[in-house]
Amino acid sequence: MDLEKAIKIYKDFLKSKGLLYTQPREIVLKEAISATWHFSADELILQMHNHGISISRATVYRTLASMKEAGILNSVDFGHGHIHYEAPKARKQHEHISCEKCGTICEIQIENLDKAINSAAAKAKFKHIQYAIRISGVCEKC
Ligand SMILES: [Zn+2]
Ligand SMILES: [Zn+2]
Ligand SMILES: [Zn+2]
Repeated sequence: MDLEKAIKIYKDFLKSKGLLYTQPREIVLKEAISATWHFSADELILQMHNHGISISRATVYRTLASMKEAGILNSVDFGHGHIHYEAPKARKQHEHISCEKCGTICEIQIENLDKAINSAAAKAKFKHIQYAIRISGVCEKC
């Protein structure tokens, strides 16, 4: 998703909630959209810190959660006890596998996973299907 589109979606989302598009929110949005890998809120705070930006933790957490609600970010659970985010559609549809020993994360593509889930869910007469799969193992290095 490009930045302009993300800003537009986010502005519309905030408006629908009666919230303002503030400068701190814009800064967080720009940093999050430019991140090329999965990041946790704390990792993003660190990245912003390295860019000389300081925004309160609470604002970053809240902004990321609302960006997820707006559909600009996906969340992924690597079992770290916190959420990781990634900008969707930046890359192909993929799942994640994490190493139980060192925490390394790889992106893997599973053929027809979407199709299989959707058709199984359709058989159970469900709509608006969402899914999250957590796959872990031990990586080559470990
Ligand atoms: Zn983590
Ligand atoms: Zn490992
Ligand atoms: Zn990913």
